[in-house]
Amino acid sequence: MTTMDPTNDMPDCTVWTNYYRCACGEEWDDQHDCCCNDHCPACNCENEPYISDDGSLAIETIESARVSIAARLEATINTIVDVSPVTAE
Ligand SMILES: [Zn+2]
Repeated sequence: MTTMDPTNDMPDCTVWTNYYRCACGEEWDDQHDCCCNDHCPACNCENEPYISDDGSLAIETIESARVSIAARLEATINTIVDVSPVTAE
């Protein structure tokens, strides 16, 4: 028997669902045939997907990636706030 296992050999027409989150807080997802960057619909900033799903990812995996990118962006924003000069007088 020479039956091919279709799950073993992915065709190159895989549609990826790319999930993005911009530093401005905008979140969106888009479907592409590759994991490419996309521009934020709110501020037009270029973002790379924080996770790309070829259809095999569990919701939990996407959700945990979402939580971690949110935490990372939050940390970045806090750093920017810390750097800004504070007038103590
Ligand atoms: Zn944005």
